[in-house]
Amino acid sequence: MAGRLEGKVAVITGAASGIGRATADLFVAEGARVIAADIDDERGAELEGVHGDRLRYRHVDVTSEAAIAAAVDAAAAEYGRLDIMFNNAGAPGDPAPVLELTAEGFDRTLALLARSALLGTRFAAQQFQKQESAGAIINTASSAGLQGGWSTAGYTIGKHAVIGATRQSAAELGPLGIRVNAIAPGIIRTPIMARSFGVPLERAEEFAEFLNARHGRLQPIGRLGLPSDIAEAALWLGSDASTFVTGIVLPVDGGATSVYAGAA
Ligand code: NAD
Repeated sequence: MAGRLEGKVAVITGAASGIGRATADLFVAEGARVIAADIDDERGAELEGVHGDRLRYRHVDVTSEAAIAAAVDAAAAEYGRLDIMFNNAGAPGDPAPVLELTAEGFDRTLALLARSALLGTRFAAQQFQKQESAGAIINTASSAGLQGGWSTAGYTIGKHAVIGATRQSAAELGPLGIRVNAIAPGIIRTPIMARSFGVPLERAEEFAEFLNARHGRLQPIGRLGLPSDIAEAALWLGSDASTFVTGIVLPVDGGATSVYAGAA
C-alpha cells in the first residue's frame, strides 16, 4: 500500500527530538522525504543515519531568518521541491513572570517561538509559488497558546502569537492553494516538558499523576500525550486527507483545554 505522503517533501524544524523526531520518523514511514532541521547536530546526524537517503539533517537555528530560508532551499536542492513545512522547533524561552519581564527576554522568546513560524511560512509559501503547487504548513502551538496559566509569560504569549500567525497566513495564502494550520499539544512526554516542569523524563508519568491529583483531573484522557500523538495529527494536516482544512488550531491534549479541570 502506498504511504500517505508518497512523493511529498517536508521540512521539519526541531526534528532531532520529541515531537519533531516522531514526526520525521512517521513522515518517512509514510513515503515522504524530509529535511530535518535542528541545532542539535549530534542527534541530527543520528537521525540521518537511521533514514539513509530519505532524510537529510541541516543545522538550522530558527531564530535566524537566513537559516530558515536555507532549510527551505535545502528541500528544493536535495529533493527538488517542498510540499509540507512543519514549523515545530521550540524551547521554554525566558522564564520571567509578567512582573519581571525584560524587553530583551521577551523579544528573544517571541523570535524563537512565533517569528520563526511566520518566517517558515513565508519561505515555504514562496517555494510553493515558485513550483506552482499547493502546499501545507503546520505550526506547533500549545495549550499555552489557547489559555493563560499553563506556562510562563513569554511562552504563553509566543504560542498565542503562533495561533495568530496561523490564522492570518491561512487567510492570505488560502487563495493561493496554501493551507496553514496549527496543532496545540497538551502535556507531551518529551525533554522540553520534563525541563519545563523540572522533572526527569523517566518520572514523567509520576508527575502526570501528581498534576491530576492537584487539579482533580487534569484532562479526561488520563495519561501524558506522546510525541506520536502529535505526529499523527501532523500527518493528517500535511496529507491530502485534509485539503479542505485551513486556519484551524487542533488541540491534541487529552481534552485538557475543552473540559473544566474540576469536572472529575
Ligand atoms: P524537545 O525539546 O524534545 O524538542 C525540541 C527540539 O527543538 C530540540 O531538538 C531542540 O534542539 C530544537 N530547538 C530548540 N531551539 C531551536 C532553535 N533555535 N532552532 C532550531 N531548533 C531548535 O521538545 P518538544 O516537546 O518536541 O517540542 C516541540 C514543540 O512542541 C515546541 O515548539 C514546543 O514548544 C511544543 N510543545 C511541546 C509540549 C510538550 O509538553 N512537550 C506542549 C506544547 C507544545
